[in-house]
Amino acid sequence: MQNQKMLLITHPKSHLHVQPFPRPNLEAFEAPLRTQMAEHYLSECGISTKLEREKAPKATAEDILKVHSPYLLETVRLMSNLGSGNLGEAAYASPDLLRNALASAGGAIRAAERVTEGVFQHAFSLMRPPGHHASRSTPAGLCYFNNVALAVTKVMEKKSIERVTIVDFDDHFGNGTAEIFYANPNVQYISIHEYDYENFGIGHYEEFGYGEAVGSNINIPLIDGSSDMVYKQAMDRIIVPSIKSFKPHLLAVSAGLDTHYADPVGNMNVDTSTYWEYGKALGELVKELDMVGSFSVLEGGYNPLVTGPSIHAYIMGLLQEAKPDLQDQIGREPIESLDNANIDIIDQVVEVVSRFW
Ligand SMILES: [Zn+2]
Repeated sequence: MQNQKMLLITHPKSHLHVQPFPRPNLEAFEAPLRTQMAEHYLSECGISTKLEREKAPKATAEDILKVHSPYLLETVRLMSNLGSGNLGEAAYASPDLLRNALASAGGAIRAAERVTEGVFQHAFSLMRPPGHHASRSTPAGLCYFNNVALAVTKVMEKKSIERVTIVDFDDHFGNGTAEIFYANPNVQYISIHEYDYENFGIGHYEEFGYGEAVGSNINIPLIDGSSDMVYKQAMDRIIVPSIKSFKPHLLAVSAGLDTHYADPVGNMNVDTSTYWEYGKALGELVKELDMVGSFSVLEGGYNPLVTGPSIHAYIMGLLQEAKPDLQDQIGREPIESLDNANIDIIDQVVEVVSRFW
């Protein structure tokens, strides 16, 4: 019988890997306190009766090689042994990198397995380092192994899981995940992220998949400063209809919390209301489309005081519970011109992606 609680995956040593720079370097914010304070908050905030905890196992080399090149795995191993060094843009080694990266990948895989085995309907892997910038062969952006891609790839070996949707609401474009599944028609990747329209770059909405997979890569590139209202429109007008059209058996979520207005790395303007809205909409889809369930993995989210409340709100949404009244939910003056520019972008994305619905 399915456990009525939600699975929360953690590890008592997820704090060991530390980036070798002090603040205000970007790298310094991917810090041990992110998961430590979130775990503490979730123990204290009253939600713990709804959660069952499990310790993340380490992923095996065989698991990692389902997605990544042997060179990537070997360089992470070698440079962890050396204890320092640069593996890619904003991806540095430490003596504990390999151990923490394998456990982060293993946590994501375990979360996906527990859901596809029917033990839990929803699972969340609260682990670091994050994964969505890691491509098949290159670590980048604080990411080494692509946790969500590894978990999706492994559970798709089951015949019952033919199609999976990955929703990535981290502030940044999940270039690694997009690359890994860009030509795979059975994995729908939907990323909503901050985009620089002055300089362009990858993550544009004209990237919509390759070959048989045309239509399965969906980018929602918003302008920095995007509001809760804009995120809600993107969910209602793009994400929900795209998932309904694709009809996945399983939902995977790259839960990045660096869109919060108090995040020191991301530049968006949402509060925990949006994480609750996103959890609620995705939890509803799991029910409506009769999916086996959802699993989520932590990506970004660099204000340790915000990570716990954000996950709290997201989980309450997923479980279809009332929105928690949290301290960060304060009125912020809307910027009409910015909201209008973002609505124009959403209109354009709808035009591009609705051809495939
Ligand atoms: Zn991010």
